[in-house]
Amino acid sequence: MPVRICVAIRDSTTEGAVAAISHASAWADLVEIRADYIQDLDLGRLFCEKPCPVLFTLRSREQGGKYSGTEISRLETILKAARAGADYVDVEYSAFWQAVLESVPRQRVILSYHNFEETPAGLESLIEAMAATGAGILKIATRARRLSDNLKIARALKYAATRQWNLCALAMGNEGIPSRILGSYWGSCMAFASLPGSEGTAEGQVSADEMVDQYRVREIGPETQLYGVLGKPLAHSLSPLIHNAAFSARSLNALYVPLEAADLDDFLEFDASYPVQGVSVTIPFNEVACTLAHSLSVEASETGAVNTLVRQKSEWHGENTDVDGFMRPLRRHMHIGRMRAVVLGAGGAARSVVQGLHAQGASVCIVARDAAKAKLLADKFKAEHAPWDQLQHLRWDLLVNATPVGMYPEVERSPMPAEWLTGEWVYDLVYSSRETKLLKDAVRQGCKTLAGVEMFLGQAVRQQQLWCGDPAPERAMREALDAWMIRTAPGAEIRSSE
Ligand code: NAP
Repeated sequence: MPVRICVAIRDSTTEGAVAAISHASAWADLVEIRADYIQDLDLGRLFCEKPCPVLFTLRSREQGGKYSGTEISRLETILKAARAGADYVDVEYSAFWQAVLESVPRQRVILSYHNFEETPAGLESLIEAMAATGAGILKIATRARRLSDNLKIARALKYAATRQWNLCALAMGNEGIPSRILGSYWGSCMAFASLPGSEGTAEGQVSADEMVDQYRVREIGPETQLYGVLGKPLAHSLSPLIHNAAFSARSLNALYVPLEAADLDDFLEFDASYPVQGVSVTIPFNEVACTLAHSLSVEASETGAVNTLVRQKSEWHGENTDVDGFMRPLRRHMHIGRMRAVVLGAGGAARSVVQGLHAQGASVCIVARDAAKAKLLADKFKAEHAPWDQLQHLRWDLLVNATPVGMYPEVERSPMPAEWLTGEWVYDLVYSSRETKLLKDAVRQGCKTLAGVEMFLGQAVRQQQLWCGDPAPERAMREALDAWMIRTAPGAEIRSSE
């Protein structure tokens, strides 16, 4: 049975909730009204013009909600809602479910279990007991602490499916995001999502438009090839957006999800059950991922960092596409071989930058606040290094910011004063914004600029080539990123300095 998308709404007024139901119906098969958020609850008004089925939930504080009245009045309100037009009502397994089942037809009752601390083992026996109540739909929402907690949800869903029980199961938190997306394929009868543009009602909730358009949850099946980004934390990763756009453009039955893991073993446990065909690797796994790969590209081996894993039969090949991603926009603009470059920072990104520039014959000087780190990196690639207080005296054709200075939310910060920007090109690797303070200063000082989104796009394009072959759908990837930029910062679409 296809999954039903349930958009959860939290609004503080009845009128606001009515408007939100109408907005949600663009994506929703049903809408959950979290009535515990509504301060002027008017049941007659709430259900009078609903464009799709509505689930009524009145969660108490003990159950993670806002309702602070007595349990008797909570029960009475739930029963009133069922009579007033709610298509479904939620009742917790720890509360008065018997009383609800005596008054509301069982197929309209969602019996729910929440665990905000963990995803316990043995969910199957819990489901068995919940199914014995006779409720028409069962819901289990637990807190994931590890990526492999998603496997407990998958097992629970399969167990329920073999018994033909209607179960919706998911794990909350960023580690549990795969369960929200893959749950439909594992047999979940519903997928909860947040209303686009609004705050979610639970941690890790994905917005309804992302569920439908980006993750294509209605289309996922056993043939879908799984890809993902491995890191921690991953809350704001743009990689799912750009790679799912690429898979759509290629008409591939493939899906890319965030894989927030506690450690490498945690990822491997997940991968053993649901093999991932290609992985983007990010902080803090770039170095440890080298140990996983049976072969490494020159860039990965020289930088000692893997940002891409490509499955080759039963083994992994490790690549570092940050090098190519960084160099790609540069190659379009300049002769790198004769260039003098100053690189700010001596961390992971700086390593890729220095490796790429060094391989093309540029002369590089590394400036970092930690002089020992700058020297270590400089020695590895036969580069120079200089202390931060000498920065204003250095001459350069290209300045690269490989520090996080200027990243959202500190968008008004720049790693150096505007008057020190005396060279030709400034390349800011920060990509949370298209126009960082450094780049704005650079334009004012007459420099040409390259933005970090170009590198981000470039490294993802290379990943697509490695996973799925040429040509990578760069245009679709750029459009997805551009649309995101316009949504989050109007007027900041991707442009290059040409
Ligand atoms: P990292 O490994 O943590 O290295 C950061 C470097 O910046 C370190 O040398 C650090 O010095 C230095 N630094 C941090 N805060 C500083 C400050 N206030 N003033 C001066 N130096 C400072 O991080 P990373 O992975 O290299 O990432 C660096 C930046 O590049 C981030 O903004 C990241 O988002 C961006 N990036 C962009 C792309 C892309 O595709 N556009 C790819 C990778 C990274 P200490 O060692 O002394 O802390």
